[in-house]
Amino acid sequence: MDPGVNIVSRQQWGAAAPRQKQTLKGPAQRVIIHHTATPSCKGLAECKSHIVSIQRGHMNERNFDDIGYNFLVGENGTVFEGRGWGVVGAHAKGHNSDSLGIAFLGNFNNDTPSREAISAVKQLLKSGVSRGFVHSAFSLLGHRDLGQTECPGSNLYAALPQLKSAT
Ligand SMILES: [Zn+2]
Repeated sequence: MDPGVNIVSRQQWGAAAPRQKQTLKGPAQRVIIHHTATPSCKGLAECKSHIVSIQRGHMNERNFDDIGYNFLVGENGTVFEGRGWGVVGAHAKGHNSDSLGIAFLGNFNNDTPSREAISAVKQLLKSGVSRGFVHSAFSLLGHRDLGQTECPGSNLYAALPQLKSAT
């Protein structure tokens, strides 16, 4: 468990086991920010049930090996373990093998990311760098920088500089 970051483990949210798991070769060079494009969630129970259904959709409809993202974050700043550290995700086609995918729960074409969620993701990244899972000079991108998608929504995309800043 990371000091300073409250991470809800897979076991705690009731994740299904991954079909396969591929290890990232070295620290992630890039961090790619997504939104889930689902309604936002506030309480723990509500967020957990959204994540369970996202995992089900990714595994059953899109035929991924697991939930696509490495981590997800709720509006109140709670971080949920997706595939976790050091695992190749399925979140940005053609860009998964050297990156970490983090999804904000909600639809940020309309919603505005909360200060709590922004600061939780900053803490998470700091922890990932200090533990060697994320390269210290990583680049931070929105999904739309890499493909034909609205993801992570205009309001979250506009907030990416806040995620990059040191404080
Ligand atoms: Zn995305």
